[in-house]
Amino acid sequence: MESISVFDMLKIGVGPSSSHTLGPWRAALRWIGELKEKNNFDNVAEISVDLYGSLSLTGKGHATDIAVMMGLSGFDPVTFPIENIDKEIDFITSENKLKLNGELEVPFVPKENIKFNRKFLEFHPNGMTFRATLKDGSKKSSSFYSIGGGFTVKKERKRKKAKLAKFAQFPFPVEKGTELLAYCKAEGKSISEIVLENEKSLRTETEINDGLKKIWDVMLDSMFVGCHTEGILPGGLKVQRRAFNTHKNLIGEAKYSNAEEWIEAIRGTEVKFRQILKWVSCFALAVNEVNASLGRVVTAPTNGSAGVIPAVLMYYLVIENHDANFEDIRKFLLVSGEIGSIFKKGSTISAAMGGCQAEIGVSSSMAAGALCELMGGTPEQCLMASEIAMEHHLGMTCDPIAGLVQIPCIERNAMGAIKAINACEMALDSDPSKAKVPLDSVIETMWETAKDMNNKYKETSEGGLAVKVYLSDC
Ligand code: SF4
Repeated sequence: MESISVFDMLKIGVGPSSSHTLGPWRAALRWIGELKEKNNFDNVAEISVDLYGSLSLTGKGHATDIAVMMGLSGFDPVTFPIENIDKEIDFITSENKLKLNGELEVPFVPKENIKFNRKFLEFHPNGMTFRATLKDGSKKSSSFYSIGGGFTVKKERKRKKAKLAKFAQFPFPVEKGTELLAYCKAEGKSISEIVLENEKSLRTETEINDGLKKIWDVMLDSMFVGCHTEGILPGGLKVQRRAFNTHKNLIGEAKYSNAEEWIEAIRGTEVKFRQILKWVSCFALAVNEVNASLGRVVTAPTNGSAGVIPAVLMYYLVIENHDANFEDIRKFLLVSGEIGSIFKKGSTISAAMGGCQAEIGVSSSMAAGALCELMGGTPEQCLMASEIAMEHHLGMTCDPIAGLVQIPCIERNAMGAIKAINACEMALDSDPSKAKVPLDSVIETMWETAKDMNNKYKETSEGGLAVKVYLSDC
């Protein structure tokens, strides 16, 4: 059984894609680590990268080439100032050289040294191989797979043993929803309390709180930035940023000078049903517009679906409970992370494996269950909310136009967030003992649907909207 922490499911990163940007970026860093570990780093003379399958088919639109170069340059995706990415890439392309890990200069012509191969590697659709020629002429190579949500693995799964050891420390190991509910019942605890106990076996409570605060700060910042940035998104589709105008109409003349004051200002605005829909959509659009412009967001559980969880949590803070505090934010993030990890163990969070149900569907399910706990739902109602949210995303395909994480991705976050809120309300009004579809069954169904889904709809941009709309028409 795999050990997955909340901090594995919710990660600070850069847009536009967790599997195609964050994953390859981290894989490049891991490869540098390997070269150093085997004492090959100082002898590297040349390097190249092969991208395979989905990483190749939608890699350009998802900035995989940029991510690989940033990783090879040794930059950290969590802390690197995103406004400097262009400068670093311009340096590599104009000088035709790259400073490996910021230390060793090697020749590097991006168009020649990053190869986009349509071929799929057998192990996973998102494969990549890093190659080095050493000064003595010998060759070294290493393949990685980006399996969704920024997770990268090697075929031999060398980390499995370490992960199992880590898992053994969990006082409440969970693979399925039924196990989670059994712990809640036996211990008389909420879902967030059970998850917190597991997290405490890995780090101190102060570290947990600090980590979750950082995650929330990035979520809030991405909503704030997205709501205050106008213009056209990069990539060639000429997609207009929409959060800016929606926000302007909603916020009116309210005054504020930072994100915290902004929360108070929103609490003071009129919120009838239409405004609630617009606010929630606006928060989700804002995050994914930031994501689409290679901005900093929290992968939750992926970048394409990064707007759903912040939008639903913000809905709770500004609409449902004006007295909400960090304790509520912590509970929400703990529950959402746990639900995401159950999906990852039982199915997939990779669009290249399961289509958009694995991204927007999972994020909506995570948000629905987490909101339900804050709204006073029982653990059973929380999992029922998660089930309802996923049930109505089953079969959703991934077909991003021009391989960009923009259409249909950005709007889908708004729809996923609204669906999560509705799923929560339906569960709160229901008796979960009468539910016909348990969460574990919908997860299995999602996985079966993923396996049946045509590859055209798995982040390849070879079907659906991606072939009906042409870049030249935009
Ligand atoms: S269509 Fe869905 S799964 Fe595909 S890139 Fe967009 S958000 Fe991600």
